[in-house]
Formats: sequence, structure tokens, C-alpha cells
Amino acid sequence: MRYYSTNNRKATASLEEAIFRGMAPDGGLYMPERIVRMPQPFVNNMRNMTLPDIGFALANFALQGDVDPDVLHHIVDDTLNFPIPLRRVAPGRFALELFHGPTMAFKDVGARFMARLMAHYIGLRPGRRVGVIVPTSGDTGSAVANGFAHMPGVHVYVLYPRDGVSYVQEAQFAALGGNVTALEVDGTFDDCKQLAEQALMDADLNRHITLTSATTINVARLLPQTFYYFYAYAQLLNQGVDTSRVVMAVPCANLGNLASGLMARAMGLPVSRFVSVENQNNIFYNYVHSGQYVPRPSVSSIAPALDAGNPTNFARITALLGDVEQVRKVVHAYSYTDADILDTISRVDREHNYLLDPQSAIGWRGMEADLQPGETGILLATAHPAKFSAPVEMAIGRQVPMPLQLVRFLRGTRHVTPLRNGYTALRNYLLRQS
Ligand SMILES: *Cc1c(COP(=O)(O)O)cnc(C)c1O
Repeated sequence: MRYYSTNNRKATASLEEAIFRGMAPDGGLYMPERIVRMPQPFVNNMRNMTLPDIGFALANFALQGDVDPDVLHHIVDDTLNFPIPLRRVAPGRFALELFHGPTMAFKDVGARFMARLMAHYIGLRPGRRVGVIVPTSGDTGSAVANGFAHMPGVHVYVLYPRDGVSYVQEAQFAALGGNVTALEVDGTFDDCKQLAEQALMDADLNRHITLTSATTINVARLLPQTFYYFYAYAQLLNQGVDTSRVVMAVPCANLGNLASGLMARAMGLPVSRFVSVENQNNIFYNYVHSGQYVPRPSVSSIAPALDAGNPTNFARITALLGDVEQVRKVVHAYSYTDADILDTISRVDREHNYLLDPQSAIGWRGMEADLQPGETGILLATAHPAKFSAPVEMAIGRQVPMPLQLVRFLRGTRHVTPLRNGYTALRNYLLRQS
């Protein structure tokens, strides 16, 4: 399978080139030239398949022999070694809990798969060393750092804004040590993103240290995220739920999760439509309603994982669906405020005895607004509520117990390297590491 750049369909790369480059040299994002549709019997028979079985079947079809099936089996099994349960929250309304992995947010799935796939390629070329550079507002850094922790040949540089991530989030990458360096930038998340992009595009720097991106710029993060969309549907079949009209609601920031859902649909997932839900950083919402894509600087909210002002995967959404008319047929877009988030967390807790994190609460609200009678709704619940305990506790008026998995990180020693906000400082730092 070849992968084309969203800026030029003729500029293609192999899977290995695409994942180690991260971004295409022309600044575009890589997409598979062809999206392979799963055979109908696969979809009908999914009800009795395990999550790793479904993941392997999808990956093996999608990669078209680029990775040896035995190796791929191993990568998929190792990625999906935690449960992704579908909980019935209310009649006809479900939450797909994507947060039972090591960092308790959905990015673990994509990050672990990408890390294992890269490790496979690095193993094929002894002596190869790669620097993974990852700007984060919290969850990406921890998922990527944990995915690559202790992996030979790889060093992870997490770039994060000094005052922009929560105490728990910082612990999840800064307490790892070893091959993970936490670079605390004296700036905003947008500055971190900018610095990382500059480093990736710096050809001279890359002669000294091979850098790649591990955000959803990297196409290796998208495929594994299709696994759980299919698995959600399989669990509906398994629970005997009406699957004639299924709607899936996704809390959106950089649109990587939504792009994967749309890819799953193109692969044959029988879903009626998607609901994209944003906070006040509602760039995609404005695009769907006005037809104009207008990025702007992000504003901070109590759902910080959704604070994105220029969604990375926008080009992939239009590559998958076409113009705004086409997008509107498949995606209904919503946007909510901090007050709406608090209200939703509190109401769902009272009415359904189910605790949502701020990001998932936004998704729930959009799903409720959009569902028609007789439809089945699935919310992609993207983080454990304890990861965002401050707003959740404010909403429900009681403490949220901290899972042991998170307590473990909090106890570790943090290793933080402060960095001045400016490309020269980052460049000099990286050159000293090479
Ligand atoms: C990253 C993240 C999102 C947004 O996902 P995108 O793929 O960037 O749209 C939503 N919720 C949580 C908890 C996240 O960490």
C-alpha cells in the first residue's frame, strides 16, 4: 500500500517512510491510497470476536501485506491488552470506555500501536536511532511517552507548556525517566506545536538526529483507532441491541479520532452518522455550519484536551468525505461551553449514576441533542474522570477516587528540563543530544 500526501496525491511514500517522516515533506498528511472495505461476512460475524481478533483482521486487510502477519498479530495483541467495554448508560445510549489503558485516555490505543510498529522497523535496521518529538497539552505526551518507554533505539522529547498541563498529566510523562525527556517550554501549547514542526522540517538538524512526529500527524495512529469503532458495533450485536441506526458521538480537538471513525465507515462499519462535539474552540463546528475553515488561537477551557485552534486532521476529513456538502451528510457538529460541561457531568451523574470526564461530557451533550427516536447512540468516552478531577468534583460536589494506576505515577520522581520559548533553544538542546 502506498500513502499519499493530502497536499499532492502524486507524492506517495511506503508505510515505513510515512511513519518515520510523520508529516509529508510538502507539509501534507499521509493517507492510504486505497481504503480497503472489509467483506460483509466479517461485519456480521464480529459479535463473537475478541478485540485483538477484530484489530488483527482490520490491520491485516488495511496494510495489504506490508507487515508480516505474525509480526502484526504480536503488535496488535500487545497494543490491545486492556479492556474497552461498552457500558449501557441509558436506554439506547452507550459509552465506549476507551480509558482503561496505562495513561487512562483513549490515545493509548494509537500511541501503543504506533510505538510497536516503529519498534518493528527499527529492529529491521540495526543501529538506527530515532528521536520522537511530541508537543502536548497533556494526554498525547503521556500516551506517547508510555508507549515508547524503555524501547531501544528511540528517545522521546515531550514539549509541553509550563502552565498548560495538569499535575497528573505531567507526572505521567515526567516520572518515566530513561528514554523520555520532559521539556517544559516557557510558552503556550501552540508555541510547542510550532517548535516541534520547525524541528521536524529542519533538514540540517535531521542530519544529526532523525526526528519524527508522534502526534496524529502520524498515519500510524489512525489505523488502530478504527479497531474500537468496529469493536463497539460488535458489542452492540453481542448485547442484542438494535443496530439498524447507529450514531457515534466523538469529543473533538485535532479530529484524529473522528478521522479514524470516518475511516472505519469507509472500511464498511455500518454507522448512520457521526456527531462531532467541540468546546469553544469550535473551528470544525464553524466549518460545518458556514463552509469556511478559519483557524484561530486556542482558548483554554475545563476540557483542556479539546483546546485546539487549528485541528491537525482537518485535511484528512475532507480527503475522506469531500466538500462541506458531503461532510454535512455524514457529520453533525455541535459546540458547548464550560457551563454546559459542568451541567452535563452533574446531570448524567444524578440521572444515570454515570461519571463523565469533561471531554466525554461534551460528547454526551452533543449525542443527546442529535439522537432521533429509535436510534442507538454510542459516545466515545475518551478519558477517566479522575484524570480531570478538579472540574468533575466541582460539578458533582464530592471527591473522585484516584485509580491506583494514576497514583503510581504521582509517587514517582519528576525529571523536567526547562526550555526557553524559541526555536534556537530547542535546536541547540537537540544538537547536544545527538
Ligand atoms: C486527545 C483527546 C481528545 C480529542 O481527540 P482528537 O483526536 O484530537 O480530536 C478528546 N478527549 C481526550 C480525553 C483526549 O485526550
